[in-house]
Amino acid sequence: MASPSITIALAGNPNSGKTTIFNNLTGARQKVGNWPGVTVEKKEGTVNFKGHTIKVVDLPGTYSLTAYSVEERVARDFILNSNPDVVVDILDASNLERNLYLATQLIEMGVNLILVLNMADVARSRGIDIDAELLSQLLGVPVVFTVGKLNEGTQELLEKVIEVAGQKKDNEKTIYVTYGKEIEEELGKINEEIVKARPDLGSHYTRWLSVKLLENDPLAIKEVKSWSNGGDAVLDATRKSREHLEEIYHEDPEILITEQRYGFIQGACREAIKTSTQQKIDISQKIDLVLTNRLFGFPIFIFFIWAMFQLTFTLGEYPMNWIDSMMSVIQGLASNILPSGLIKDLIVDGILAGVGSVIIFLPNILILFFCIALLEDTGYMARAAFLMDRIMHWIGLHGKSFIPMLIGFGCNVPAIMATRTLESERDRILTILINPLMSCSARLPVYVLIAGTFFAGKAGTVIFSIYLLGIVLAILTAQLFSKTILKGMSMPFVMELPPYRVPTFKSLMIHMWDRGVIFLKKMGGVILVGSVIIWVLGTFPRNPGIFEKYAKEKHQISSIYAEKLSQASTEADKTALKKEMEKAIEELNIRANQERMAQTFLGRIGKVVEPVLKPLGFDWRIGIALLSGFVAKEVVVSTMGVIYSGGSQEKTGEKSLKKALKAEKFDAAKAYAFMAFVLIYTPCLATVAAIRREIGTKWMIFNVVYSLTLAWIVAWTIYHIGQFIA
Ligand code: GDP
Ligand code: MG
Repeated sequence: MASPSITIALAGNPNSGKTTIFNNLTGARQKVGNWPGVTVEKKEGTVNFKGHTIKVVDLPGTYSLTAYSVEERVARDFILNSNPDVVVDILDASNLERNLYLATQLIEMGVNLILVLNMADVARSRGIDIDAELLSQLLGVPVVFTVGKLNEGTQELLEKVIEVAGQKKDNEKTIYVTYGKEIEEELGKINEEIVKARPDLGSHYTRWLSVKLLENDPLAIKEVKSWSNGGDAVLDATRKSREHLEEIYHEDPEILITEQRYGFIQGACREAIKTSTQQKIDISQKIDLVLTNRLFGFPIFIFFIWAMFQLTFTLGEYPMNWIDSMMSVIQGLASNILPSGLIKDLIVDGILAGVGSVIIFLPNILILFFCIALLEDTGYMARAAFLMDRIMHWIGLHGKSFIPMLIGFGCNVPAIMATRTLESERDRILTILINPLMSCSARLPVYVLIAGTFFAGKAGTVIFSIYLLGIVLAILTAQLFSKTILKGMSMPFVMELPPYRVPTFKSLMIHMWDRGVIFLKKMGGVILVGSVIIWVLGTFPRNPGIFEKYAKEKHQISSIYAEKLSQASTEADKTALKKEMEKAIEELNIRANQERMAQTFLGRIGKVVEPVLKPLGFDWRIGIALLSGFVAKEVVVSTMGVIYSGGSQEKTGEKSLKKALKAEKFDAAKAYAFMAFVLIYTPCLATVAAIRREIGTKWMIFNVVYSLTLAWIVAWTIYHIGQFIA
């Protein structure tokens, strides 16, 4: 009997059905976390089968096991260092040649391997007939068929796992990819040096290491460098071999090796696969004739994107309104039930208002994620990336980066999370750094207010120009970064066009919900804490004296006007007087509020940052509004409402805020500079948290500093050019 506890790792290309098989195997018993040190998702689960406890680890989906992407490194490290008892490679049987590429590398690593030919249904319907037994013999590994979608073949797979886990790997029977005479000779030389330096290593491993070194694999080189002796000789031999091969073939050895692997695969497939003569015409190719067509591809793509946003924001509006009214009911209830005082203010104005401002976006986020899951699962996303590739290359990025940029116009948080689909770390970092310049929907209320007030009649154009400004700055930033701090790390790769597939509703829901939960948990927490902090800063220290003082003044005004009113003779005079009085009281309220604000911590901080903002024409009050915008951009408008119109925007209406702003000697230049600043500076705490989560504290700090600096410079320029013109 084998050991009762078995660890298996699921490997496979993205979209081969790994997640589906994982769920089939483990049911509900799974744990989701991250791989240590990186933001690649790690799923683990267990299954009890015939007295064995089988632990299943879902490796990131990869096409290969080079060292170029985080996913590949994670998968490789786990296989090499954690020694799973069995590696289960999930392959898309309808696309076997491509999927076998990863398999050849796993075979080469000498692991206990099982090949799972998933999507057997699709293969069958396309008339692809795979001789599993022959394939198994050719490759020297067991082969199992499954249909993940229908949970078929799961039992057989588990049986095979137990069988294979019990066996010791038989070196004699191992089948290697052979690379042809020239390359094999060079591999032999490198291998010899490795054995000399490290006689303790097994023969599988030294063979694998030789191949990796010849491929110029950075991780393999790093490992050899770390050896206490003999490493130099190995690297020396490697260099000579590479030079030798380059001389003969005028080709990089890594390309030669890749070609040989594909040759090996083609050979195996030709023998083991029989494609029936009346093979169905490949529907995918037909669809692609239209969707990636030079003429129609682009308009169709734009239409899909437009439809996605349309759906997100129009359909999202209904649940948004429900949540909004639900939140006001809760807020109303809380303010009725709770005794007045600080605790009530904290709960109603701080916590409920803050959480409400995030939760309200949940429907949008979920719909957007659903659409994205739909585009991804059907295979269309790969085509979109393909279409955008040339344009994105121009700014030093890959076509795939386009999707996160697009999502950024909705909300930067899911956009930053969506960069996980990018293979290259450098592309991920660059895409994340420029993403906040895509103006998210939370910034729109600010533009609407300011442009509506100062550019009436031209507001639409002005707002459009702000969005455009963001895109232009993103392009310039990308070019700047890719020529300085992020250069040289970019790496081209084949963009694979997976076959179109009808996604299952369940998988769409899982993909949508997985992302939605992350948004809620992490970002909800940040916003909650942030709004409490802003509330505390804007409330303390309290100075009741101010209210007494102003209450007295208000009383005076009322009595003065009461007297005047009693003397007024005509109705017209009376109405005029009443209006005058209202105006005086409103001005008083504004003054009272500003004085109160000035004394709070927030006001004092506003005064501290005032000198920095002075050159842009901004005073401490704008400083406060901008500071509160760190929590979320929507907050900028409500803060301005409090500062400028003596009450929150909801209470006094936008009109009075507009009037108040106009009275404040805000001019067009200043107004435009302010909008530009809001566009460019750090979007919100949730985004900052997302950046940190994805690429670490260092880049997060860099991003905050960069965006503040850029915002300042751009606003300064706009303000001064405006002054000059005026
Ligand atoms: P992963 O990227 O490898 O994790 O792939 P998923 O498990 O998310 O599967 C991608 C898509 O293929 C989903 O829509 C699945 O429902 C579908 N799928 C998985 N297994 C099969 C199968 O055996 N047959 C068919 N027709 N579809 C499948
Ligand atoms: Mg998956």
